[in-house]
Amino acid sequence: MLQEKVQEIKEKALENHIPIIMDDTLEEIEKILKPNPPKTILEIGTAVGYSAICFSKFLQDGGHIDTIEREEERIKEAKQNFIDVGVENKIYIYEGDAVEILPTLNKTYDMVFIDAAKGKYPFFLSQALRMLNQNGIIFADNILYKGYVMSDYNKHKQRTAVRNLREYIKEVTENPELETEILEIGDGLAVSKKK
Ligand code: SAH
Ligand code: MG
Repeated sequence: MLQEKVQEIKEKALENHIPIIMDDTLEEIEKILKPNPPKTILEIGTAVGYSAICFSKFLQDGGHIDTIEREEERIKEAKQNFIDVGVENKIYIYEGDAVEILPTLNKTYDMVFIDAAKGKYPFFLSQALRMLNQNGIIFADNILYKGYVMSDYNKHKQRTAVRNLREYIKEVTENPELETEILEIGDGLAVSKKK
C-alpha cells in the first residue's frame, strides 16, 4: 500500500474537518485484532475511507470490508481513495442511509466498526449483533463524545446523541453474550467481544 498516499488522505480529511479515526484509537484496534485478524469487517460511516483503508491492513489474506456512507461527495472521494491506494477490490461501499441498508444485509462479520450518527448507536448495535460471528468484535467510536456521556451534561442540542450513547453503553455492558470494555482513548472506544 502507498503509505504516502494514506498520509495524504489523512491530512486532507483533517484539513476538511472530517472526523476520522484518531491515531491512538487505531493503534488500540490494531493491538486488539493482532492475535486474531478478522476476515470480514463491516463499517458504519465511511466518510472518505480513511479508517477502512487502515483496517484493510488488519485483514486476513483474502479478507473483505463492507462500509456504509450516505453523503454522495464523501462516497465519491472514498472510492477514488480506495483506487489510489489499491484496495478497491477489498472494500465495498454501500451507498445510502445505514438505517435503511443494514436491515437488508444478510451477511456475517468478524468485526463491526460503528462510527456514524450517534443517535442511532443502539439501532446499529442491534444490527451488528444480528450479523456478528462467534468470537466477533464490535468497536463503537466516539462513545464518550467529548466527555459529555460520563458527565451530567444533558441540556444541549446534542442531548439525543448523548442519551443514545449512554443507552449503547448500558446495552453492551448488560448483554450476557458480550464482554465489554469502555476505553478512554481518542473520543472513547467501546470494545465488545462476543463470547
Ligand atoms: N470512519 C471514518 C469517519 C466516519 S465520520 C474514518 O474514521 O475515517 C461519520 C460518517 O458517517 C460521515 O461521513 C457521515 O456522513 C456518515 N453517516 C452518519 N450517519 C449515517 C447514516 N445513518 N448512514 C450512513 N452514513 C452515515
Ligand atoms: Mg469516529
